[in-house]
Formats: sequence, structure tokens, C-alpha cells
Amino acid sequence: MRQLWIYGQSYAGSDRARPVIDPATEQAIGEVGWGTMEDAEQAVAAAKAAFPGWRKLPAPDRTAMLHEVARKLRANLEQIATELTLETGRAIAKNCGYVEWSAQAFDYYAQISRNTRGRVIPSPEAGQLSMVLKVPLGVVAAIVPWNYPLLLLAWKAAPALAAGNTLVIKPAGFTPWTTLGLSRIFDHLPPGVVNIVSGSGSRVGDYLVTHPDVRMIAFTGSTEVGQQIMRKAADDIKHVHLELGGKDPLIVLADADLEAAARAAVWGGFLNAGQVCTSVERVYVEQSIYEPFSERVVDITQKLLVGPGIDPENEVTPMIRPSERAAVDQQVQAAVAAGAELLSGGFIPDRPAKGYYYAPTVLVGVAEHMAVMQEETFGPVLPIAPVQDFDEALARANASRYGLGATLFTNDPKKVLQYMEEIEAGNVWINDPLIDNVAGPFGGMKRSGLGRELGEEGLEDFYETKHVHWEVEGRMKSWWYPWTE
Ligand code: NAP
Ligand code: MG
Repeated sequence: MRQLWIYGQSYAGSDRARPVIDPATEQAIGEVGWGTMEDAEQAVAAAKAAFPGWRKLPAPDRTAMLHEVARKLRANLEQIATELTLETGRAIAKNCGYVEWSAQAFDYYAQISRNTRGRVIPSPEAGQLSMVLKVPLGVVAAIVPWNYPLLLLAWKAAPALAAGNTLVIKPAGFTPWTTLGLSRIFDHLPPGVVNIVSGSGSRVGDYLVTHPDVRMIAFTGSTEVGQQIMRKAADDIKHVHLELGGKDPLIVLADADLEAAARAAVWGGFLNAGQVCTSVERVYVEQSIYEPFSERVVDITQKLLVGPGIDPENEVTPMIRPSERAAVDQQVQAAVAAGAELLSGGFIPDRPAKGYYYAPTVLVGVAEHMAVMQEETFGPVLPIAPVQDFDEALARANASRYGLGATLFTNDPKKVLQYMEEIEAGNVWINDPLIDNVAGPFGGMKRSGLGRELGEEGLEDFYETKHVHWEVEGRMKSWWYPWTE
């Protein structure tokens, strides 16, 4: 059984243990201890106790410890990737990549946190020093979703720790297995710097969100839960970092490389069974190439291999749970009932016999008001719609409550320039979708989120900012004091 980890010690958790289900086999891969509010309280107390020591640790020592986290992740890469595949269903090869990228996040933030802790600014008078000083916030709660349990944790933990904060991590209920196993990756850090508490979102998660000693909530998950967290954080004016849902458009113009764009749509739509926050969720294609494009997408889709992620041959892996699959199927069936046409998929496949699969689905004849064009579809579904021209595509792409990512396929630099300025999305891709860069800030606009992970911005958000004014010569210059006249 994998246990909770608080102040460097393993605990069974105050609730009864739970099985962790493999979505490819529907079997338990093991059991985990389950925490309650009492365990969350212990974890916050541990992180609070560890904070003064961690923030004062000389930077070279802290940096070395974070590089060591990266080294241990790489040393355990295959085991961690396998564990991630078993609990998320996702492809093993991809998971190997995600372990490496998670390690890179620790190396990157270890490195850049050495560059600066603020700046010196010109003072209003001679003999003074004015500085902008960056200090850690204190205890940070990292609340993580089930689709990328390690990577999205690394994007929070690495900058939070590099900035000198301490952490309480709450993994998603479906995927606590790999995260609880990370105690061995963090066990060279001083006790309490990292604490890991499994448990339900509405109990343990909510307890962390409302705890007065938690100064920041770094959250990735649904827009609905993000909204609740932001409301609750208002009571204590806590810092929040919200990486939420998306409805990412892919625009394909007539001058684009049609083959590359069709592959991008299939890959961006069906990667991790469409359970990616930046999945391609709407495709807008210029009328003149709409038919050949849709045909090519269907052609590629029908050749995709559907099966368990543990087999590297498989391209479309299972969804996380039947309940999530049912919600996706409901959107597809509602679209069909309202006049959309299925060119591929739209059903639960007979094979594999076990596992929560959904056939990769291509829809045409979709109307903009349909849920499948408006709401996040967290599954392998690609609705394709024709547009008259680039202006219509851009207007429809922006007519969304979400603003996470967007992709444009074209070879026209004027349109690229207009698109990069005007598209309402935090992640803007041209001729190559869904590419992250550890040095490039990641995040959303509108209901897709607040704040950025990765890049320098992803470190900045884990500091509190102070303006320090120092009268070095010891002569106060404020005019109403008689002794300065
Ligand atoms: P979710 O239901 O919002 O849950 C996310 C995390 O929040 C889980 O750990 C969950 O715990 C916890 N939680 C639930 N209710 C809570 C509450 N009242 N207070 C505090 N914490 C609470 O999201 P999900 O279904 O796991 O993940 C899918 C969503 O994440 C999608 O909408 C996707 O777009 C989004 N996502 C966004 C990004 C991004 O970077 N923008 C990246 C990946 C995913 P339990 O699991 O125990 O409920
Ligand atoms: Mg989707």
C-alpha cells in the first residue's frame, strides 16, 4: 500500500484505504492510504514548520537539492512512466517523455531561481537605496488533476520550491499512485518541505483552499472547481494560480500544408484520448479545402490503433472512467440528434473488451451553438466546420468563454501576424500544435485560467514582491519633520 507522506514520514491516512484502478484493465493496480481533513491539517503544519529553514537555506544548497530531484526522476524514469501508464491509461512512450520534461522543470527552475531575487531601482533622492525584493509566500497547496499527474505537479512544485516555499500536494482522486510514490524522489529534502496528502477534492482539497496558513493555491483542473477555489480564496486574499479548461480551435487555411494540418488535427484531438487541456476541440477549415481535409482526417482516424497505453503500438488509449466517457458520448449524441453527421466513431468500441475506450470521433455539420462546439469535450472528439475565410475563422475562434490554446495552419505571414496579436489564447501555435517549452509560459485567458506556469513568469508567481526603501545616510527627507529643514 502507498501511504501519505508528511514531515518525511509515511502515514496510512485517517480514512480507509482505496484501490487505484487501471482504466485499460478495469483492475486495481494497488491500494493507497486516504487522507482526511486531520491529515491535511498535519501536512499544513509540517509545511509551515519547514518554511523558515527552507527559505533561509543558501541558494546553492537549495539548487543542488532540486537538481537532485531531477536526477532521481531520470534514474527512475521507466518505473515512473509505467506507473503513470497504469493509473492514467496513457501511452508509455509519451509518459517516458513526461518524466523527462518533469525533470527538466526542476533543472530549469533550480537554475533560473539563482539569477535574481528582484532588482535595484533609482531612488527619489541621493543617499538612498530602493529595491524590489522577492520573497517566498510560505505554504503553497498544489492541487493536481488526473490527466497529467506528474508533469502538472512538476510545473508547480519546481518553481514553488525554487522560490523558497514549502508544499502540500493533493493528487487527483483517480490518480494518487505515482504521486504518493514520489516520496522517494523528495526524501533528500528537509522534512516538511514537501508533503503529499491523498484524499477527496471536496474534503482535503477544500480544507487546503480555506486553511489560513496556506498562502497560495496552485491549481490545475476544471473551470468549475477553479471558480470555487477563487471565490473561497477571496476570504483570506490568497494567491491563486488557475490552469483550467479549454475549447481550443485549430484553423486551417487554404494555403496550408493539408497533410500536416490533417495530422495535427488527429494528433491534437486524440492524443491521450482527447483528455488534454489543450486538445484540439474545434476545427475551422476554409471552405475550398473543407472536403479534402475532412476526408483525410477520417482516413487517418480510421487507421488509428485503439488499445492499452502499455503497448507502444497503440495510439488511442482509454479514457479515465466510464462516467467521463458517458459525458463525452452525451455531447456527441446530442450533436447528432441536432443534425450533426458522424464521419467516424461516436460509439464505445467492442474491442478491447476491457477498458474505458471511446472510438475516435469525427463530426461534421456542427452548428456553433451545439455543446460540442461550446463546452469542453474531455475525450477523443473532433468537430470540423467550414468557414468562408480567415476573418470568420478568427471571429469564431474568439467567440468562446475559454482561451487556453489555439493553432493556425497557414503559410501567409500577414495572417500569422494578425492571428498572434488577436487570438484570445495564452498558448499560440502556428503550423505545429500543442508544443510546450519549459522556458515558455503556459496558461489561459478568460475562463481558461489566471497566471502562467513555466518560463520566468511561472517562477515570478511564487514570490511576494516588496518595495524596500532605505535611507542609507540616515537623514529622513520627509518635509514635515522639523529636523530635516
Ligand atoms: P477537477 O475535477 O477540477 O479536479 C482537479 C483537482 O481538484 C483534483 O485533485 C480534485 O480532487 C480537486 N478538487 C475537486 N474539487 C475540489 C474542491 N472543491 N476544492 C479543492 N480541490 C478540489 O478536474 P479533473 O477532472 O481532475 O481534470 C480535468 C480538468 O482539468 C479539465 O477541465 C481540464 O481541461 C483541466 N486541465 C487543465 C489544464 C491546464 O493547464 N489549463 C491541464 C490539465 C487539465 P478529486 O480528484 O479528489 O476530485
Ligand atoms: Mg477533447
